[in-house]
Amino acid sequence: MAKKSLTIKPKLAFYWAASCGGCEITITELGMRLVDLSEKVDIVFWPAAMDFKYADVEAMQDQEIDFCFFNGAIRNSENEHMAYLLRQKSKILISFGSCSHLGGIPGLANLFDVETLLERVFDEAPSLDDSRGTRPKLKTKVPEGEIEIPRLYTQVKSLAQTIAVDYFMPGCPPVVDQVWKVMQLILAGQLPSKGSIIGVNPKTNCDECERKKGESGMHITQFHRPHEIQLDPERCFLTQGVICCGTATRAGCGLPCVKANMPCRGCYGAPDGVLDQGAKLISAIAALVDTTDVQKIQEILDQIADPVGLSYRFGLADSYLSDLKYKK
Ligand code: SF4
Ligand code: SF4
Ligand code: SF4
Repeated sequence: MAKKSLTIKPKLAFYWAASCGGCEITITELGMRLVDLSEKVDIVFWPAAMDFKYADVEAMQDQEIDFCFFNGAIRNSENEHMAYLLRQKSKILISFGSCSHLGGIPGLANLFDVETLLERVFDEAPSLDDSRGTRPKLKTKVPEGEIEIPRLYTQVKSLAQTIAVDYFMPGCPPVVDQVWKVMQLILAGQLPSKGSIIGVNPKTNCDECERKKGESGMHITQFHRPHEIQLDPERCFLTQGVICCGTATRAGCGLPCVKANMPCRGCYGAPDGVLDQGAKLISAIAALVDTTDVQKIQEILDQIADPVGLSYRFGLADSYLSDLKYKK
């Protein structure tokens, strides 16, 4: 365990790139613990909560920020610029949340090319009003001068696909207890070696789950979506024909979804030793299908709605599938 010497009051920064804001909400959910924390650290940049400007960061010395929590994926030129800038200004850069860690939900856009995405959003979406067909321009002249918006990239990337990252905190969002655990490690100077995934457990969610798995193994002959059946809160979802990603997912969240009678969707990413979460899940599910008849296997697997979205919901941008697409 590497002990790290800190300034008396460590300087913290929080930033969001291509993000829904949920990771920022987790910080605020620290509640009164955030008040305690604010007495022990200086928050020097947190645009989601306070009026900081990019110029404030640009004016800092290199490595002036002790710990920067960076959430959100890299989707456009602004995200990328801020990733480079915060890397330069931070001693320790923490990839915070699934979007930053693995590309997250925004990474599912990598299934489509940019033109298809723009067509959907600006030309076809049913909710469009008279603005239908109007595309944003990179530069627009207004009476006050010229407005420039960020350039959309063809591919969503994780933070580590863009710049060097020191630590990773998975989760969509990371649960508040995990955030607090990491804050304690920081304050105690007890972060593990660089490159680690922090605040989590090395096992899988299935290892920690107390639902009954059944004594004679699992045999799936029909898949259901969670809303299609009455879910038994005591039994493993898989024994009920509902896909749960627990077996391919790192533990550490405390299973809030499973405890709320919803299957795990895999937001903590792959556990140790698994290189591709989606491939691991598909292989685990396929092994449970209860027939050797090829046509029947196909019929059963065809019942799975959106297999890519299910298996790679949070990690497509960082997966083997992404590699295949972009190595062409
Ligand atoms: S990880 Fe989840 S909560 Fe955090 S920004 Fe991405 S979508 Fe939102
Ligand atoms: S698959 Fe889901 S419900 Fe079943 S044991 Fe694993 S985490 Fe629990
Ligand atoms: S149960 Fe699964 S989807 Fe829910 S928070 Fe944990 S890892 Fe994420």
